[in-house]
Parts: sequence; structure tokens; C-alpha cells
Amino acid sequence: MTDMNAYRANWNYPTAIKAGAGRIKELPDHCKALGMKNPLLITDPGLANLPVVTDAVASCKAAGLACAVFSNIKGNPTGQNVMDGVAAFKAGQHDGVIAFGGGSGLDAAKAVALMVGQTGELWDYEDVGDNYLRVNVDAMAPVVAVPTTAGTGSEVGRVSVITDDTAHIKRLIFHARMVPAVVILDPEVTTGLPAKLTAATGMDALSHNLEAYCSPFYHPMATGVALEGMRLVKEYLPRAVKNGQDVEARMQMLVASTMGATAFQRGLGAMHALAHPLGALYDAHHGMLNAILMPYVLKANQSVIEERITALARYLNLPNPSFEAFLNWVLALREEVGIPHALSAIGIDDAQAQKVGEMAVADPSHGTNPIPFTAAQYSEIFKRAVVGLL
Ligand SMILES: [Zn+2]
Repeated sequence: MTDMNAYRANWNYPTAIKAGAGRIKELPDHCKALGMKNPLLITDPGLANLPVVTDAVASCKAAGLACAVFSNIKGNPTGQNVMDGVAAFKAGQHDGVIAFGGGSGLDAAKAVALMVGQTGELWDYEDVGDNYLRVNVDAMAPVVAVPTTAGTGSEVGRVSVITDDTAHIKRLIFHARMVPAVVILDPEVTTGLPAKLTAATGMDALSHNLEAYCSPFYHPMATGVALEGMRLVKEYLPRAVKNGQDVEARMQMLVASTMGATAFQRGLGAMHALAHPLGALYDAHHGMLNAILMPYVLKANQSVIEERITALARYLNLPNPSFEAFLNWVLALREEVGIPHALSAIGIDDAQAQKVGEMAVADPSHGTNPIPFTAAQYSEIFKRAVVGLL
């Protein structure tokens, strides 16, 4: 029996993090400490009626907080979802946000908390140029974040990924102050996640650490965080997929996920540059897309990242550490946790290959890929991933 007390900790990097089993109990206290009397809990519709959410709402009410739920959010949240959330916040005269859920719920909640204090339109705050200077920071609502998946790490991210369903693209809403004031990492709220989603979100966490690690951007602290994040995925993702009730594995995967998003202040790369357009065009699961794309992108980047991937293979204690050893480990991990080898397995064909390539070059993650691929090169990587030709 694991002693989960060994995993109980309070961290202030990159924000205030309350880690440990059962710490969801502290939710009302953290809301009050941020001055909330009437928080709006924003979550994914699939979670809204589950005990994990209804218990949290009940605990807030028992502690004297008024608390309502908003859950009208798509799997890839849209601009309309965000503005509906802003309307609900204003109508209920709320004074703070509890961001509760997977990436969709957290991203939507963070965007709502930003937008309740702004006079402009949502896309005025897209991560383009110095748009972030337009944000009225003092008017943003305070946020407590509770991730229920271990993947996006959105609980410590400075952006929300929101789909513009008019233009059919994903846009990033950015402000450094979008990092929630308090994060609760409680593995017990993630034990209900099915194995398939545990695998897909866990591979997303791996992709964040990996792409951040391979980025050419100068940020040695992020490099260190990424290395250890990947080691945690290696040790604990197979366990979390095999047995969803393994609280120790769930705890370590939550931390690996938070580390991935901490590390990707260093930037992401071609996996995400491709996953973002594919998510917008096919409404496919973000983590699943990154998981399938991972080996194809590694191969395409090989000439530039070979040395640092060999160092990574040494850190992960892989036999005969090399680029090949790491690639083979990724392939074996994907198989072990049930990720298909080709995009065709999730219903994606190459009919829009040219468009995907053009959208990938325009994606913000493209800028920190180790090799500045052209649209044609992205199309080629995509086509290989569709048919499974590594
Ligand atoms: Zn991701």
C-alpha cells in the first residue's frame, strides 16, 4: 500500500499548487482566500452531473458559498461557448471561477475569467503581436483550477485554445495572468477517467514535455522540468492506464502533466502545429492526435534533435541510449496504452493534406519546431501519419 502522505505538498512554482490525495476538500477555503463569495464552476458537460462535480459544489455550499455550474462547452470549446459562459457569470453576479475538468473545461473557464472584465471582442485578445496589452488585468476574475485529466496541463498554462467556428481554426487567447491563482492536484478526482482517455491525455502530457525539450528557444529551467516530466510519464502512464484506481500513478501523471505545461513556456513544435488544425478540421481528440503524430514528427526532426534525444534516452535509462532507442520506446509505449499507429484509424484521410500543411505553418506552435518546416513538408508528414508510413 502506497503512503500517499509522501505525495502531499504545497508548491509555489509556477503558481500556488496544492498537491495530494483528498485535497479537493480545500476547494471552498481557496475560493474564500481569493475573495470569492459566489463562484461559477465551469466544467465539461460530461462531468457536470457526476459526483466529482456535484460533491465539489455541495462542499462549497456547505461552506457558505453560493455556487452555480456552467457546462455548455464543446470538446473543442468555441468562442460562442466562452461568451455564453461570460453571460452566465454576469447574470449570476459571480465573483470568481472554479475551472474544473479536462482541457476543454479549463481552457473555457480561463477564457471566461479573462473576458468578464474586458470591453473588446474575444478575438481581440488572440495571441498575436502585443494584443495582450489590451487586457484589463484588474478586471479579470480570480480562478481556482482543478484538473480531472492528466494531459493538457492547462491549469498552469497562460493560454486558452478556443475554436473560431466561423473560420474553422483554433486560436490562442493569451495573457501571462491567465495562470490560475491556485491549482489543486488531487489524484482522486481523476480516478474515474476511462483507460482510453487516460492514455490519450497522458500522451498529450508527454508531447508537451517532449516538444518543449526539443524547442530551440533558450530556457534551461524549462528543459530540466521537461526531462523529469517525461521520466514520470515513462514510469506511471502504463500503470494509470492499466489500473485507473492506482492513486500513486494518477498523482504522478497529474504532476507530469503540470510539468509539461510549465515546460512549454519554451514553446511546442510540429506535433501541435499539426494537431491544432486537425482538431479544428475533424473535431478529433487533441491528445490522441499528438499521440499518433509523435513518431512521424520525431523522424522528420531527427537530423536536428538526434543529440538531445540521445541525452534524453540516457536520462530515461533506456537500453543502448540513442535516437532509435527513444523512438522505439515511444512506439512501444503507444502500443502498450492502446494508441493506434495511423490517423486513418480515427477516421482521418489525406483529402485535405494541402490545407493541413498550410494551417500548420500558420500555427503558433510552428515557430519553435527544431526545423522550420514548409507547408509542403507538413503535408508530407501528415500523409505519412494518415497511412502509418514511418
Ligand atoms: Zn497538447
